[in-house]
Amino acid sequence: MLTMQFIRENAAQVQQTAINKHIPFQVEKLLEWDITRRNLLLQTESLRAERNKLSKEIAPLMKEGRKETAEPMMARVKELNEDLGRLETELQEAERNVSEMLMLAPNIVSPDTPVGEDDNDNVEVRRVGEVPSFAFELRDHVTLGEMHDMIDIPRGVKTAGTRNYYLKGAGLYLHLAVQRLALDYLAARGFTPMDVPVMVRPEALNRTGFFPTGQDQTFELADEGKWLVGTSEVSLVSYYSDEIVDAAQPIRLAGMSACYRREIGSAGRDVRGLYRVHQFAKVEQVVLCKNDPAVSEALLQEITGHAESILQLLELPYRVMSVCTGDMSQKTHKQYDIETWMPSRAAYGETHSSSNLLDFQARRSNIRYRDEDGNLQYCHTLNNTAVASPRILIPLLENHQQADGSIYIPQALRPYMGGVDRLVPP
Ligand code: AMP
Repeated sequence: MLTMQFIRENAAQVQQTAINKHIPFQVEKLLEWDITRRNLLLQTESLRAERNKLSKEIAPLMKEGRKETAEPMMARVKELNEDLGRLETELQEAERNVSEMLMLAPNIVSPDTPVGEDDNDNVEVRRVGEVPSFAFELRDHVTLGEMHDMIDIPRGVKTAGTRNYYLKGAGLYLHLAVQRLALDYLAARGFTPMDVPVMVRPEALNRTGFFPTGQDQTFELADEGKWLVGTSEVSLVSYYSDEIVDAAQPIRLAGMSACYRREIGSAGRDVRGLYRVHQFAKVEQVVLCKNDPAVSEALLQEITGHAESILQLLELPYRVMSVCTGDMSQKTHKQYDIETWMPSRAAYGETHSSSNLLDFQARRSNIRYRDEDGNLQYCHTLNNTAVASPRILIPLLENHQQADGSIYIPQALRPYMGGVDRLVPP
C-alpha cells in the first residue's frame, strides 16, 4: 500500500504506473476524496470545538438562573449537533472511499523495470543450459505420463472437471521428490520450512495484496467466510501480520502447500496437460527484511538464484526474464520470471516468479521492526517460487525422455526417488 502522502507528492508517477500496469485506478478521484475528507475533518473539528465551548458556558449560566441568556446558546448547540451528525456521515463516506481507493493504488516499479503491454514485452536477462535436440520422435508429458501410467488427466476431468488430474505411482513420487529437493535446498540456506493454512480469512488476502484486484481468481468457501489461497505467500506473510519482528537479519521462510486457482480469463489457454490446472503444489520462498532498497534488491537476486540452482539440480535449461509493467501485479515493485524449456511447446514456459514488493505488503499487513534508532519501520517483503508441481513435471519428463520412452532421473533427485537413475515404462 502506498501512503496518501506519497500519492499526493507523486500523483503523476502513481497514475502512470497504474496505466502501465493496466490497473483501473484514477489518482484524481482519490485526491478529490482526500481533499473532501480533510475539509470535512476540519469542519467537524471546528463545530465540535464550538459545541464544547458553548456546552461549558451553558452549565454555569443555568446554575445562576440566567435561563434567557442560556436558551439561544442551547439552540445553537442543537443546531451544531444536527450539523455534526450530517458531517460525520459525510466524513465516514469520504474515509471509506479514500481507504477503498488506496487499496487499489499500484506499487511503483523499479527504474529498471521494462514498460510493456504483456508477457511478450518481458526482456530476457540470461539463458542457462543447453536446449536438447532429439534424434527420435518427441513425446509430450501427457503421452509420457500415460506410457508410465503416472499421469491420468481423463479421470481427473471425470472426477473434478477441466484442469484436474491424478498423479500415480512414479508420478506422485516425482511430484514429492521435486518439492523435497527444493525444501531441503532452502532449509540448508537458512529458510524455515513451514506447512501453512490454505483456507484463510479474506483479510489475509486483502492485506497481502491479492484482494481486491485478484479476487476473481480465488475460490471461495462461501459457507465458511474463507477462501483458498493461490500461493502460500498469503499465509507466510500473514504469519507476521500486526507484529513487530526482528529484521536485523532477513527472515527467510519456505512454505509448502497446495495452491488453488480459478484461472478465470484463461479459457481455451493451455488446455492440454498439466500446464494450467486448478490445484497444484508449490514450495515458496518468502523473505522479510529491513526497508533498505539495497538489502531487498540483494535478496531478490538471492531468491532468484535459489530457483535457478534448483533448476540446475534438475538439469533443466531455462531463461530469466525481466517482467514488464503490463505483466506485473498491483503489489509488485520488481519481478523476474524464470521460464524453463518445454520441448513439446518448443518454447520456454514460466515456472517461477520472483518479486520484490518493498513495503507495499508489510504496510497493508502492518508488519514492522525497530530500526537502529528504535523507530518503528515497515519491512520489505519478497517472494519466489522454489518449485511448482506438476507444472515442473512438464520440462522434467520432456527434457529427460529417452528414445525408448524411459526417463532419465537427474542425480540430485535420485535420493528422493529410491535411488533410481531412470524410470522405465511398465
Ligand atoms: P505465480 O504465483 O502466479 O507467480 O505462479 C508461480 C508459479 O506457480 C508459476 O510460475 C507456475 O510454475 C505455477 N503456477 C501458477 N499457476 C498455475 C496453474 N494454474 N497451474 C499450474 N501451475 C501454476
